[in-house]
Amino acid sequence: MTLHSAIETLREQFGQDSRKVRAGESDAEQIRVKYLGRKGLVAGLFSKMGSIPATDRPAAGQALNELKTYLTGELEKLSNVPAKGEEDKREDMDYTLPGDPFPKGSIHPITQIMEEIKDIFHHLGFSVAYGPEIDTDFYNFEALNFPPNHPARDMQDTFYIGDSVLRTHTSNTQIHHMMEHDPPVKILAPGRVYRHEDISVRSYCLFHQVEGLFVDKAVTMADLKGDLDYFARSLFGERVKTRFRPSYFPFTEPSAEMDVSCIFCGGKGCNICKYAGWLEILGCGMVDPEVFKSVHYDPTVWQGYAFGMGVERIAMLKFGVEDIRLFFEGDVRFLRQF
Ligand SMILES: [Zn+2]
Repeated sequence: MTLHSAIETLREQFGQDSRKVRAGESDAEQIRVKYLGRKGLVAGLFSKMGSIPATDRPAAGQALNELKTYLTGELEKLSNVPAKGEEDKREDMDYTLPGDPFPKGSIHPITQIMEEIKDIFHHLGFSVAYGPEIDTDFYNFEALNFPPNHPARDMQDTFYIGDSVLRTHTSNTQIHHMMEHDPPVKILAPGRVYRHEDISVRSYCLFHQVEGLFVDKAVTMADLKGDLDYFARSLFGERVKTRFRPSYFPFTEPSAEMDVSCIFCGGKGCNICKYAGWLEILGCGMVDPEVFKSVHYDPTVWQGYAFGMGVERIAMLKFGVEDIRLFFEGDVRFLRQF
């Protein structure tokens, strides 16, 4: 048998033995002694060097050294294989130690408020509907009873993309929904809206709205006031009072603004409520019959109420944030606080 074939045979044999160690049928130390011990198989091969012709000896010596390096490395790996049944007793693992802290993101304050608003109206039976952010003039203005010369259609207030508009309110969702569904309807439409405004502490070119629409037979202003009063108390606390002031929107008649008693001073008057004792929260009203006509609902049969609020406005009040731009800048020093 040549030295070369003897080395091959020994490697194969070692392969079988190391499989036994991995299977827990043999011990790494025994294998080490068998191959690399003073009287082991490798030493046995080295002892045959004398019988090899002098010219072949350097190559034979190199082959045997490579074999020895290979076996040493493999035995090192094998000695790290835990013996069968010993896996759980390894002393270098303490499973009772706390894990390394893992940095987690947080839910954006605007998302938090949107979720809270959705939850409250969910209790009142509203489901959520979404509409497109890029829409036509019909859905954003015309069907909502905006007259052709209404200032909101002006380039000063609205972003246009060719013939389309970036919606200026989520009310377009109402129109889409009513065109696709027969009454009764009870939906909440949350989402982003866009206005061509100077960016400042109080205004931004985009913000979030949540709108509600309830259409059924015999819906009255009393339903609107009751539901929105429940909403205000759920969001700001049981002691909050509401009041409704007459207002104007093209798509509701009559229209109103709802105020809540100041959540900071309780109505006594402070900086934030500008000593009025009240904070303006949302706009609302009874759906204008003209809107029903544009979606082919019969206004003599169906009535409805609608309301809409700016989410940033509510988040600023609830979290005491004084600059609207902070919600959009993605500064982690700000976001980490929520
Ligand atoms: Zn106040």
